[in-house]
Amino acid sequence: MRDRLEDLNQKITIAGGGLAGLSLASALRLRDVPVTVLEAGTYPRHRVCGEFISGVTGQTLQRLGIASAVSDARRHTSLGWYEGGRRIHEDHFKTPALGISRFLLDARLRDHVEHLGAEIQTKTRARPIPAEGLVWTAGRRPCKGTWVGLKAHVRGLSQNEDLEMHAGAHGYAGLAAVEDGWTNVCGLFRLDPSVTAKGADLLPAYLARGGNHQLAAALQACEWRRDSFSAVAGFKLGRQPTLPGLLCLGDAESIIPPFTGNGMSMAFQAAECAIDPLVSWAKGEKAWQDAVNTITKAIRRKFQRRLLVADGLHSVLLNPGGRSLLQSMASARLLPFQPMLTLIR
Ligand SMILES: Cc1cc2nc3c(=O)[nH]c(=O)nc-3n(C[C@H](O)[C@H](O)[C@H](O)COP(=O)(O)OP(=O)(O)OC[C@H]3O[C@@H](n4cnc5c(N)ncnc54)[C@H](O)[C@@H]3O)c2cc1C
Repeated sequence: MRDRLEDLNQKITIAGGGLAGLSLASALRLRDVPVTVLEAGTYPRHRVCGEFISGVTGQTLQRLGIASAVSDARRHTSLGWYEGGRRIHEDHFKTPALGISRFLLDARLRDHVEHLGAEIQTKTRARPIPAEGLVWTAGRRPCKGTWVGLKAHVRGLSQNEDLEMHAGAHGYAGLAAVEDGWTNVCGLFRLDPSVTAKGADLLPAYLARGGNHQLAAALQACEWRRDSFSAVAGFKLGRQPTLPGLLCLGDAESIIPPFTGNGMSMAFQAAECAIDPLVSWAKGEKAWQDAVNTITKAIRRKFQRRLLVADGLHSVLLNPGGRSLLQSMASARLLPFQPMLTLIR
């Protein structure tokens, strides 16, 4: 019966098997839509990401059919904000955030989606040529960006809160536990040609360059998880340049500044917005362009405010005047953390 239903539906091809692509593939397979995922890389692999999932509801994960993939993730509630190693603000997340490595999560989702009957072709690079049924979830687009993202898993780093954010002169880094006793250390920094370190030494070097000397030294004394160091450079934050005629979701559509810990949630939410229109197209009930327009509109509406607010806060965080204002507000206990969190969710 299921096969017969599938035979009636048109196929969706998803270019990019990251979180947006795999969660969409899961949701579509659960609704009997034939799916092929084209992924340039392989699984499992370490990726640049703070691996701190905040702002997605259990309902969204259920609709996507991926709740079980994060059911054993670490639950994070406490937060500390640090400047030069000194805590200036402590707070909490009313709804716990999830801590799970991309090494584990992406591979779990791949297995789950394959089990649901999707075809997954790894080491396959798709081309952005518009076609009916093609969804572009291929992530950040390489460009002349000014950022470098660095991440590693370490053991032996002591933490006061579940999530520690360490601000610096040229960027910031977060610390949060993932599975098996590993701590994710991940930072976003302004590219600086005067930093001459190579490979994994880049992470402590960029931390020290921004004034976080203690953290840099503590990091160097840690046990580092083999092969976990990853780096990415050359990308732009915010709304991505449009690819005419293509339906883009996740980072391919817009990249929220990483301090929000909301990028992965946005990838899931974008996939959720796409479910019903894509199922209608697959069943022949909706024209492709109608489906694309409906999804694009829904995503813009959902993400517009948080992108705008996050962009403004990001500029404040990377500006010396903005940082000292935040410090003064924090010491006067006037930092409106909870309202700001609501605005970027
Ligand atoms: C420094 C940093 C820290 C971050 N920290 C956090 C955090 O703590 N919490 C959070 O929620 N978010 C965080 N993010 C953001 C988060 O990682 C992304 O928003 C999320 O991964 C987006 O998912 P995606 O599926 O759109 O893209 P991706 O997960 O990047 O997936 C895209 C996939 O497409 C594949 N691909 C690329 N080109 C092609 C092609 N031509 N054909 C086929 N496949 C292709 C790639 O190999 C990749 O697997 C962080 C980002 C950075 C840079």
